[in-house]
Amino acid sequence: MNHDPHPADRPVRREDSAVYETDEPVLYEVRAGIATLTMNRPAFNNAQNSQMTYALDAGFRRAVDDDAVRVIVLRGAGRHFSAGHDIGTPGRDVNKSFERTQLWWDHSDKPGAEFHYAREQEVYLGMCRRWHDAPKPTIAMVQGACVAGGLMLAWVCDLIIASDDAFFQDPVLRMGIPGVEYFAHAHELNPRVAKEFLFLGERMDAARAHQMGMVNRVVARDRLEEETYAIADRIARQPRLGLALTKQVINRVLDLQGLRTTMDLAYGYHHLAHAHGQLVGEGHLGGHDARSMAAANKGVAS
Ligand code: ZN
Repeated sequence: MNHDPHPADRPVRREDSAVYETDEPVLYEVRAGIATLTMNRPAFNNAQNSQMTYALDAGFRRAVDDDAVRVIVLRGAGRHFSAGHDIGTPGRDVNKSFERTQLWWDHSDKPGAEFHYAREQEVYLGMCRRWHDAPKPTIAMVQGACVAGGLMLAWVCDLIIASDDAFFQDPVLRMGIPGVEYFAHAHELNPRVAKEFLFLGERMDAARAHQMGMVNRVVARDRLEEETYAIADRIARQPRLGLALTKQVINRVLDLQGLRTTMDLAYGYHHLAHAHGQLVGEGHLGGHDARSMAAANKGVAS
């Protein structure tokens, strides 16, 4: 019997040339019942490589396992919360194999569209859904840029506290892609506003995000930390199970409103778009890279 792989399943060799600038892409600290996960690639505006997403996943796991932790704060070191997924730093590690957290197989040697599909199931959609359902309350503390992949990390949190200089933006339509992998846009925003947000790819400032109910509070930059931890402290005084049950119910309400189905649909289209970019010879990012996206984003800073 022939056990050669099906022609569609033939493995592909890819070189991993990632050079990490740090061994600690996420800092972890617990103080007074509050665990803080700090994205720690400030030189790259906390661009998320897999090294970081796996470290975040480990941080959420550690915080959930520790009975001393009652609330989790997610923040970014430096000027910005997160500029999104890493599409161009020396630490970009898309070809690297990691010990996975879910049941999707390793992406790194997979052919065709399977490469990105399997990878993003694990490191974006799968992880974000796990974090969203973490049984402890989570707060995103957002300053500066919260762009594309940065939105995913803010959106998975239960509360978002933003400084008045924070801005939110999903410009990936310019790559031909209908929004970032964790597609919550039309649930986080009024659908008509979500269309504007995606069609134009412009920055939404913190005041507008607050007006839309996407952000819980907007505070002055120099008060952001104090206000965030004051709120975390008040939540930390509530009983653990009561918080977990409340969160579960509201997360299931989001699913009943269609969040999970929206995301599954959008994820398929997202990968049609990645594959389309490759079919027309522009690559899975539609001919863009970190430099061209950064330049174009400046042009649409509304
Ligand atoms: Zn993608």
